Amino acid sequence: MDIDNMVQNSALVRAREGGGNKGRSWRWKEMLRFPHISECRELAKTIERDYYDLCVYQPIGKKLFHLYCLTRPELHNYMLLLDALKKKIGVSIILQSTVFSMHLFYPFRFLHEYLSQEPFTQYQFSMHFDRFLQWKHLERRPITKYNFREYRLLGKGGFGEVWASQVRATGMMYACKKLEKTHVKKWQGEHMALNEKELLEEVDSRFVVNLAYAYETKHSLCMVLTMMSGGDLRFHIHNMGKPGLTMDRVYFYAAEVCCGLIHLHQKSIVYRDLKPENILLDDKGHIRISDLGLAVKLEDGDLVQGRVGTLYYMAPEVISKEKYNMSPDWWGLGCLIYEMIAGKSPFRDKSERPKSSEMEKRIISKTVEYNEKFSTDAVDICNGLLNRNPKHRLGCQGLGGKEVKTHPFFRQINFRMLEGGLVEPSFKPDPRLVYCDDVQDIEEFCALRGVVLNQSDGEFYAKFNTGSVPRSWQNELIDTGCFEELNVFGPMGSRPPDLDW
Ligand code: ADP
Ligand code: MG
Ligand code: MG
Repeated sequence: MDIDNMVQNSALVRAREGGGNKGRSWRWKEMLRFPHISECRELAKTIERDYYDLCVYQPIGKKLFHLYCLTRPELHNYMLLLDALKKKIGVSIILQSTVFSMHLFYPFRFLHEYLSQEPFTQYQFSMHFDRFLQWKHLERRPITKYNFREYRLLGKGGFGEVWASQVRATGMMYACKKLEKTHVKKWQGEHMALNEKELLEEVDSRFVVNLAYAYETKHSLCMVLTMMSGGDLRFHIHNMGKPGLTMDRVYFYAAEVCCGLIHLHQKSIVYRDLKPENILLDDKGHIRISDLGLAVKLEDGDLVQGRVGTLYYMAPEVISKEKYNMSPDWWGLGCLIYEMIAGKSPFRDKSERPKSSEMEKRIISKTVEYNEKFSTDAVDICNGLLNRNPKHRLGCQGLGGKEVKTHPFFRQINFRMLEGGLVEPSFKPDPRLVYCDDVQDIEEFCALRGVVLNQSDGEFYAKFNTGSVPRSWQNELIDTGCFEELNVFGPMGSRPPDLDW
């Protein structure tokens, strides 16, 4: 065991645990000091006055609008009703009773319709809305490397390294994916980098990593992502004793990946890079799909063509350069389920390194073999997903992946509970362990010599460097308790009660 690795791991473990100040800098309040309201005039003029966005979608906006409503006794009942309806809808979603929830959606909509009129208009003249603008002002400040504290190297990718990174002001832990500017330029990765950043910004699912910040430093472009401290599935399948996973974990991860894919597909995004190392575990044992570098957004009903992905996991239609839409992802899910059960990928034995021509041949024609670990349902779902004809493949029947969810393989899974985050994972990563390769085993990434960055690169960097992602930033402030501690009102209004809705 290398000393350097041990020191870096224990620093990371200590930082994750938080400690006295929950990982915040001793200057955290100063860092998050509200601007004077006069500094928010420009923001007040330009911010779009959309009820749904300001009072429902944005987490801090929602809290402040609620606090405002509580200052008006005649609105209290509306707040109580909203709260009660939300809880009931939660229950009805879990009970899968559509009739019941249809019944409740109407008053829900009616309530928002009411609140979006006079109450929303008056809200915009309140001190609560001023406070919202102050938070927005903080949110929109430029982001630099000085906003973060860095811990150990977590992994390496095609354009750079991924580091454990902590926001100084709030103590929130993230993973910072850095793209080296010189490498991006040399391999013309600008379009890819921007594409990845913009898609991440657009998705909002508990099964896909979230983007919290995008910023630049002198040498790199940085994407700050949900910290996934449980390691990737490749590590769990191959580096934790006997290759493969127990069946309860296979069902659970496969179901969560399936939900993540469906979310992406609903946004017309085809992911194209499904493989164990891109599926990451968080500290509770839930997975998220990561690495949207190869994902692409399709226009209405469009097909794409393009040989991208990792050869071992590539679908036949991708290899033979046909046009496709979402089908490669369902093939990928088939490969993933197979590998989780068998402990090896369907077309390649462990440690085998076939030539690409051989690999292509196998994917296009080799019969997949199943060992005794596969139940009849497991064989059936793998055969369905690994169907070489995308028209006949499970998941591609025009039902948005519904036929995958209802396959008997997933008999034990309650998808509604799963989507609500209400299923407890059977495996929980050990908080004292660091689930990645030792630091010295991850190769260093150095800047390339001889690549000169110029004006036009600067224009692209500016497009990338958009700072905080509003919803993620607001959730960070709320989840770390910073919002509660700072959102105090002066003598004009006494501190309002804290109600969550
Ligand atoms: P690339 O697009 O270059 O393949 P990835 O996004 O796959 O880069 O990241 C490279 C590696 O960094 C991953 O295999 C994983 O080990 C680690 N990593 C990436 N994102 C995270 C994250 N959110 N949390 C923890 N580790 C991560
Ligand atoms: Mg990757
Ligand atoms: Mg990538």
